[in-house]
Amino acid sequence: MPELPEVERLRLSLLPHLLGARVERVAIYREDVCECVHGGEVVPTNAFALLEGAGIESLHRLGKHLAIASAGGPAIEVHLGMSGQVLVHEGPLPEPSEAKATHTHLAWTLRSGGATRTMIFRDPRRFGGVWGFASFDQLRERRWGGLGPDALEVTGEHLFEQTRGSARSIKAALLDQSLLAGVGNIYADESLFAVGVSPRRLCKRVSREQCERLAQAIRVILAAAIASGGSTLRDYVDADGKQGASQFAHKVYGRSGEACAACGGVLRTATIAQRTTVWCPTCQK
Ligand SMILES: [Zn+2]
Repeated sequence: MPELPEVERLRLSLLPHLLGARVERVAIYREDVCECVHGGEVVPTNAFALLEGAGIESLHRLGKHLAIASAGGPAIEVHLGMSGQVLVHEGPLPEPSEAKATHTHLAWTLRSGGATRTMIFRDPRRFGGVWGFASFDQLRERRWGGLGPDALEVTGEHLFEQTRGSARSIKAALLDQSLLAGVGNIYADESLFAVGVSPRRLCKRVSREQCERLAQAIRVILAAAIASGGSTLRDYVDADGKQGASQFAHKVYGRSGEACAACGGVLRTATIAQRTTVWCPTCQK
């Protein structure tokens, strides 16, 4: 599942295609992956709310959530879910039969500097979706209001204040998007390994000093993952179809049963907070 670094890589790869482009047409192949909201009410899915006729001014991200906004007009949020992709190519809008065969649910015709391109949203497993709003402010209020601060900017103080006294595991807290937006299974495990804290440790036993180091590890590891292109995940590609590259930098994620990079012991796995978790029982306490 794409996490913050992959969504940020997608945002960066979309920028050159989208900034200043005008959306000439929106083709809706599957309405049930979309939700359009106007004035706080869900309205029938319509091309206007999904940016038809709008000029694209900015791309925003909070955690794993990506928004494409026009100047003073509609804005959309794209959520990749498990297998969502946003791709830009030179060809025309796909025919309905082709869209169905490729799990393409939406497509936008983009006009920019005399060139015409097509952006598509495809999502075979349909855990993702696209939401349309009359403005970016409405999008932010309705979709992002319940999210914690972006993980790239999280502070130790915030982590400590939000977790102190809690009887849940620190891993469960890191995955809680209302506490912290953008950390998922991969980077939760990597960050906890970096600071030597067991994913099973209860929040109330994580000190202020450990929260400081954990927040720093989260920021550093996410920034490094963005810089190296995001993780190589089964379905993840950026707007140009390029895969991520940082898989080989993972120290624990996906390495259950292998040797710990720090002590040589065997990495352990268990289900914690409903997710497959990998850690080193020697290095992480
Ligand atoms: Zn170890």
